[in-house]
Amino acid sequence: MSAASNIRRNGRRPGMNDTMSKDPLLEVNHLKKLFPVKSGLLSREKKFIRAVDDVSFKLMPKETLGVVGESGCGKSTMGRSVLRLIQPTEGEILYKGKDFMKASGAELRKMRSDMQIIFQDPYASLNPRMTVGEVIAEPLNIQKTYSSKEETREHVLEAMKVVGINPKYYNRYPHEFSGGQRQRIGIARSIVLHPSLIVCDEPVSALDVSIQSQVLNLLRDLQESMGMAYIFISHNLSVIRHISDRVMVMYLGHVVEMADKDELFKDPLHPYTQALMSAIPLPERHSKRKKIILQGDLPSPVNQPSGCIFHTRCFMAQDICSKEKPELRDMGNGHMCACHFCGKMEKGICGEKLQG
Ligand code: SF4
Repeated sequence: MSAASNIRRNGRRPGMNDTMSKDPLLEVNHLKKLFPVKSGLLSREKKFIRAVDDVSFKLMPKETLGVVGESGCGKSTMGRSVLRLIQPTEGEILYKGKDFMKASGAELRKMRSDMQIIFQDPYASLNPRMTVGEVIAEPLNIQKTYSSKEETREHVLEAMKVVGINPKYYNRYPHEFSGGQRQRIGIARSIVLHPSLIVCDEPVSALDVSIQSQVLNLLRDLQESMGMAYIFISHNLSVIRHISDRVMVMYLGHVVEMADKDELFKDPLHPYTQALMSAIPLPERHSKRKKIILQGDLPSPVNQPSGCIFHTRCFMAQDICSKEKPELRDMGNGHMCACHFCGKMEKGICGEKLQG
């Protein structure tokens, strides 16, 4: 098989019917990641940052799940925990039906080669002492994919072509490239083993706006030609809307809403999602929409609010909200929402119907 056919597998962007007819690629159940907090010498109470708290979802082959929320809501920790780059505290991760949490040794290495990550900062994520060719070849060398240097080099050159980096730059160093080109190098490294899953952790947020859409389009093109699934993490709802099939909204380590992309943008149910959407800049003709300003800062993930974790900032909060935790419920068509009043309130509770 040629290097070209290794890089470009036949694939196409799935419709929901495609994805619904197959087994999930990834199934995450009750995932938790707690970080212990140093307490005073005299304190007996152990405290934890609850970075990811009881997160469950499924990801279908070739699907893009967008994960959105404010900084500090646990979305990056969740993405890294799913790949076990950070060891989860609790939970189940099934990858292609296999228990990824129990995998070790050669099996773990094999499963990991099929699950890659693209980091936010293309400046920090590339080793400055390695040439571009060496950076992209590293996963192939770790996995011992090819027995000869020539085969590895041929494959790396093809990966460079696929992501739009001129192969004549094989021996150049990362600092000789612009931010957008460095992110393309990072993308080449992540696809070189033709994985089935890539966690994209804020891959465009460090880039100029003019470059962002080029990188997003590259990721979509690669998904179409290679058939990968993405967990796409971003704090930017416009970016999430551009690239996702489904969207998961996180707040303080919890999933508060999850739905098909079109459904979520048409009819956001959770007050937090509504507030996030009201902040998306709209053209002048839509400017009647009211912006919802959330009061206060994100609460400490060490001392999370009782009841609904959003009640300290929610413009809809009632007495019950500080006492009882709302379950994440399916409101129909797989539209999940964790609010006591989901489905019980009028659309556009902020006074204006929210528009996409
Ligand atoms: Fe707001 Fe109450 Fe719903 Fe929580 S349960 S989102 S506090 S209305």
